[in-house]
Amino acid sequence: MNHQELSRDLKELLTLRWSPVAVRLLKHGEEKPANVFEPSVPLRHCQAITAARRGNSIYMPPAKHACPDGSAIMGLIPMSPKLRSGELYLLFKKLPNIEIARKMIASRSEFATGTYRASVVAPLEDAEFTPDVVIFTLYPEQAMWCCCASSYGSGDRQVFNTSGFNSTCSDLTVQVMKSQRMNISFGCYGARAISDISDFETYLAIPYDQLPALIESLKKLAVKSIPEARRKIYMPPVIDNVSGPEQQEGCHVSVRIQQDRCNGCELCVAFCPDAVLEMRETENGPKAVAVAEEKCSSCYTCVGQCPQKAIQLEQRAN
Ligand code: SF4
Ligand code: SF4
Repeated sequence: MNHQELSRDLKELLTLRWSPVAVRLLKHGEEKPANVFEPSVPLRHCQAITAARRGNSIYMPPAKHACPDGSAIMGLIPMSPKLRSGELYLLFKKLPNIEIARKMIASRSEFATGTYRASVVAPLEDAEFTPDVVIFTLYPEQAMWCCCASSYGSGDRQVFNTSGFNSTCSDLTVQVMKSQRMNISFGCYGARAISDISDFETYLAIPYDQLPALIESLKKLAVKSIPEARRKIYMPPVIDNVSGPEQQEGCHVSVRIQQDRCNGCELCVAFCPDAVLEMRETENGPKAVAVAEEKCSSCYTCVGQCPQKAIQLEQRAN
């Protein structure tokens, strides 16, 4: 696969702020890929992902991993007894007792010690290796379109697996490699405290092999759904002036259709879920008219879909 094209498509379709990050765990005997460099100081896996989405291609053997939890979870080093027991989670006051800490640790995805010998991360467009997973740092709206794109080809619901702990190592790397399913994770204590992920960003990871199918579905969604939702086409003109329940008695919706603008395309009739609208023949050709305003739910679909901007809704008391 051409990584530059994949990255360009993803950035354009999702309007990503950051490069998607290619991640690979190297097995014993596997050569270091070309054009990746050891950082001058040890980094956490979450920090390496931050550096990679900013343009750095990084090779990290165990000695360059700063997080003992993350590197053990990815099978690079043995887990420290204090981390394995859950003791440290109590000291940080992240969990209430040792039983719950043990349960959380036992349920997360890990690789056995020694499964891998190093990690490599790079901006997808620069990766000269085959990634195991690709990790996105994105906004929830962009993650939503990845979910839609994933459901687009299968009809399946997306199921996510996270605990709020061990985000980039367990949830986004090991979990996705093992399950071969997309996952969303919101960062964790360490990742939020030590990397530049903003409060409004989240993480999503997908098996590398599934990127082309995701991109094809995103291209289909970009024809209509993505730009329409981003233009907020169903937004009522004044949404911050919602009256209280006592004022809603007898409220009536008028569907105003400017006949001189209507070109008779019938889109409003087709999209209206409640048969409020019909086409009528007039001396100026077919025009849309409202025939059952009492059925109108105020969904604003006709307003958003009309290419002529011919429709407006008017809410008024009877
Ligand atoms: S969508 Fe607009 S232009 Fe098309 S028929 Fe309805 S009102 Fe007329
Ligand atoms: S607002 Fe919704 S229910 Fe009302 S006429 Fe338009 S499409 Fe139909």
